[in-house]
Amino acid sequence: MITGKTRVTGIMGHPLGHSLSPIMHNAAFRSLGMDWIYVPFPVKPENLKAAVEGLRALGVEGVNVTIPHKEAVLEYIDDIHGTAALIGAVNTLKFDDGTVRGYNTDASGCLRALEEVTSVEGSSVLILGAGGAARACAFQLAEKGASDITILNRTPEKARLLAEDMADKLGFEASYGGYELIQGSVKSADILIDTTPVGMHPHTDDRPLVGAELMHEGLVVHDFVYNPQRTVLLREAERASAIPVSGIRMLLYQGVEAFRIWTGRDPPLDVMEDALKRVLNRD
Ligand code: NAP
Repeated sequence: MITGKTRVTGIMGHPLGHSLSPIMHNAAFRSLGMDWIYVPFPVKPENLKAAVEGLRALGVEGVNVTIPHKEAVLEYIDDIHGTAALIGAVNTLKFDDGTVRGYNTDASGCLRALEEVTSVEGSSVLILGAGGAARACAFQLAEKGASDITILNRTPEKARLLAEDMADKLGFEASYGGYELIQGSVKSADILIDTTPVGMHPHTDDRPLVGAELMHEGLVVHDFVYNPQRTVLLREAERASAIPVSGIRMLLYQGVEAFRIWTGRDPPLDVMEDALKRVLNRD
């Protein structure tokens, strides 16, 4: 029930139709008996500044920020959390006594999903894709002590720009190139991360960028796609006795961290995970 004391969080982006975050966060609030709510705020790019000012003026506690605002919103925030500043993008805002603080929980969510099954420190990492999600992940893993990172992209120029930015900001020399380098790069990797939308619903049977024949036993294979939960890439990983990590783990952990930032409380992980899986299994 909404009361006079209900505290408001939400997500702003455009479009928002497929976001699973309202389901995940509202399930957590309900389960903890908290008088909080999470609502979708569809915001067109031309209204971003007014939206941030409006949310602050309305006393909203915090919001997630999604496509297309993750970078553009930096202009309207007062304080940006360490790794998010290096990445140059945020996915979580907290309104703190009039101060707007920005965080990147995609980055910490990716790290936590990987660290459930392996240690990033000293690992050799291969990242496919060089978009926003790849960027968050590359900076976070470099900071966490990955021994080397290779970024391969359909448009190699974008991989080069990301690698150069990492060298400038972190002094970390990542390798980069196009997908023709996949075969050689997978061989020497401990962790393979596919940040591209390949295999995402409804294209669930598209050919994966890496097949089982290129993978080796024990390779950690993290697919950022979470719908379906068991993607074509992760099925290949199973065939190769590699270690699959579903994008749903990252989705869950980016949400867990945002929940903590807003409320100062630990959310019920199992409740959030069940809520996500129920929706994904229904589709
Ligand atoms: P983005 O900025 O648009 O980047 C997409 C990347 O994928 C680009 O490098 C693009 O290459 C590459 N790509 C696109 N289509 C491709 C294809 N058919 N074959 C090969 N490469 C292709 O998107 P993003 O924000 O980084 O998001 C990427 C994916 O991560 C999405 O599926 C998103 O849902 C997922 N994601 C998941 C989570 C989670 O919590 N699990 C969080 C964030 C994002 P070009 O540069 O050549 O275009």
